[in-house]
Amino acid sequence: MKKPISICWLRRDLRIDDNAALYHALREGRDVLPLFIFDINILERLSDKTDKRVQYIHSTMTDMQAHLTQMGSTLLVRIGNPFEVWQSLLDEYEITAVYTNHDFEPYAKVRDEQIEGLLATQVIKLKTYKDHVIFEKDEVTKDDGLPYTVFTPYSKKWLAKLTPFHYRSYPTEKYFDRFLKTEPLSIPSLESFGFAHSDFAHYPPKLIKSDTIRKYSDQRDYPAIAAGTSHLGLHLRFGTLSIRRLLAYAIELNKTYVNELIWRDFYQQILWHFPYVVNGAFRREYDTIEWENDESLFQKWCDGMTGYPMVDAGMRELNETGFMHNRTRMVTASFLTKHLLIDWRWGEAYFAEKLLDFDLAANNGGWQWAAGCGTDAAPYFRIFNPTAQMERFDPDLNYVRKWIPEYGTDSYSAPIVNHEFARKRCLDVYQRALKPS
Ligand code: FAD
Repeated sequence: MKKPISICWLRRDLRIDDNAALYHALREGRDVLPLFIFDINILERLSDKTDKRVQYIHSTMTDMQAHLTQMGSTLLVRIGNPFEVWQSLLDEYEITAVYTNHDFEPYAKVRDEQIEGLLATQVIKLKTYKDHVIFEKDEVTKDDGLPYTVFTPYSKKWLAKLTPFHYRSYPTEKYFDRFLKTEPLSIPSLESFGFAHSDFAHYPPKLIKSDTIRKYSDQRDYPAIAAGTSHLGLHLRFGTLSIRRLLAYAIELNKTYVNELIWRDFYQQILWHFPYVVNGAFRREYDTIEWENDESLFQKWCDGMTGYPMVDAGMRELNETGFMHNRTRMVTASFLTKHLLIDWRWGEAYFAEKLLDFDLAANNGGWQWAAGCGTDAAPYFRIFNPTAQMERFDPDLNYVRKWIPEYGTDSYSAPIVNHEFARKRCLDVYQRALKPS
């Protein structure tokens, strides 16, 4: 007879400390087996077979496996379509319950409903928990229960609701003896599912630097200050760092930093309430904008060859490291949509391919904000001047010179579009699209 086990399915919560679903699995059950599925539906969409995020997940899984092996247990890693993987797991194991943390992306919601249905056919419960955010779904709404679509009142309500209870950690370690005792299972190599390793040295460490958080309000806007922001996006995205642990630390140190974590929750709840934003503008009238969509200009933007140093430095930083500073994310996104009149979805897709911290909710929110069509958008007639942005936020040109070695020489590109011309054209095109019919 097979031994009954519980499974904890890890997805965007790749850690065994302070993990809500794992805590409940260990506390309620015995013989808990953690599972990770390399989902081919997601992997097939990645054109770069050395995708840095896949490598990061793989090495995280390898580390986790080593940790679990030391405790006499194992991690189970499978590759495939999650539905089919679960079908075979149901054959292989006697499963009593499955625990997992919420994932609000539209694809994940459908996937989880299907798996829940499959498990139900064997009378197995899928138990799900909040873990990725502090407040989720409709935990922070207006008094009439409707979702907030403007950040400031949302953040006020968020802060008013917050108590230490919301960021207490789940002490999983108290129950580590409840992992399934078994021989370690092997972790499939990247090559076994068509991916490969590359030399890449830019993964940010999982380190909460108190100095960065303390000085965040003064330093966060200057991309030349490497430690001006926390670089924890990757760890929050994949859950290698618990949001509760980070908040518990930051709340004592800096309100401005906490505000950024609220933005993260804000965009997650927008995606939950308004999933149509994945394909179109939050303000639907903006879907009528007549984009120029010039492919050769788009390529110049991707390559950091626009002749606008602040834009080019940002794009080159992204291409080389998988990170871009928030200030330059705003400047590059604004430039693509407003100066080049290229559909924000093109830029959104490019960022999605390149950013180590890519997160659908935050990326979509950031792009719609920049294009002026989002929830809490700056009015469209406020157009960033990329040169003024550079003068203000990189006054010594340290960031520009770091990423554009040829800056100031004849080899550096001339601007691909004139700022004043682009500004007027953008105002015309937006006005035409938005005029009442
Ligand atoms: P810090 O400044 O140290 O902030 C700490 C954390 O707060 C971040 O890691 C992130 O999790 C969260 N955060 C900060 N700002 C925001 C924000 N505006 N919206 C949501 N969460 C925020 N952030 C992503 O996590 N993934 C994305 O794919 C993403 N795409 C973006 C695209 C555009 C066009 C823009 C304008 C912004 C985007 N952001 C995205 C938000 C922000 O730029 C990054 O979170 C931040 O630059 C990451 O660097 P950091 O970890 O040093 O952040």
